[in-house]
Amino acid sequence: MRTPKLLLYPTDITPIPDLEARLRSALSELGLLGAPFELDGRRHFEAGDRFLELVSLVGCSPALELAPPDDPGARAEAARLGRFCHLHLGPLFPIPVWRAGSRARPRCPHCRASAPAAQVLNAGGRCRACGGQSAPETWRWRHQGARARLFLEIWGIHESEAAPTPGLTQPIESITDTPWSYCFVDEAAQAAEATSG
Ligand SMILES: [Zn+2]
Repeated sequence: MRTPKLLLYPTDITPIPDLEARLRSALSELGLLGAPFELDGRRHFEAGDRFLELVSLVGCSPALELAPPDDPGARAEAARLGRFCHLHLGPLFPIPVWRAGSRARPRCPHCRASAPAAQVLNAGGRCRACGGQSAPETWRWRHQGARARLFLEIWGIHESEAAPTPGLTQPIESITDTPWSYCFVDEAAQAAEATSG
């Protein structure tokens, strides 16, 4: 099973003291983060009361499920699979890491041919179609993958279903002093544990 997620990330980052704590505090004040809960040893947050003002639904998306199941026994499994929206922040990785959707097909910046994400990353950005070599981050990922040191994860959002609003990105951009972007991934429930810290 795979868990759909919307990932927000700073496109560049200079280490800032207490960065995660400052972001968490700002996101709570904004109303993005609601009540904390533990999932597989990590701190997650329910969607806050202004979540739907800060994350806009795109097109004809169905209404997002924001509330966890009433049955506490069903809650962890529903959370792992993204059956309701919840959030997780960080950790700050010492070096940037790649995360991409299983169906991501970035495009070569030279010839525009698309290729599976794993193939592009494993080949260091070498294009099989034209033979060109360009760093993977210069390929056109079209919100299907990203390389970053920190991710704000919103679980339970499928590709192109929603996007962050300026009301969400501006306050966090002012903290990191760098632009943020976003992408969609679908990560195996177990593998996600290894990468999310
Ligand atoms: Zn090419």
